[in-house]
Amino acid sequence: MQKIEHIGIAVKDIEESNERFKKLLGSAHYKMEEVESEGVITSFFKIGDVKIELLQATSENSAIHKHIEKRGEGIHHIAFAVHDVNSELERLKNEGFETIHSEAKDGADGKVIAFLHPKSTNKVLTEICADKQPK
Ligand code: ZN
Repeated sequence: MQKIEHIGIAVKDIEESNERFKKLLGSAHYKMEEVESEGVITSFFKIGDVKIELLQATSENSAIHKHIEKRGEGIHHIAFAVHDVNSELERLKNEGFETIHSEAKDGADGKVIAFLHPKSTNKVLTEICADKQPK
């Protein structure tokens, strides 16, 4: 793993939260993006070398909707940058970690991503991500 790439925060109202985080961080989000496969709309802020990703559910089947129902708003996941998602997944599986995704899938902000199951990471939902390679 290389560094913390971003911290994901589940929110109920992304427009309202964009305003709040703009005041908090002193700069506005630099992009918004819908990830249809995950049923979420995201917005990204830069703070130093790290990003904050706000996530709002767009459907009741979304993991973000379920997270907010169960636990309310708040920190949802930590994402670590890696060189290669698939080889890192193999390494982590060999180390005994349980994964949610068995291989890299497309995520927001030009990344390929995969999640580890929180039951093998002290309940911290953990994402690994890498820049999408141009095809
Ligand atoms: Zn993320």
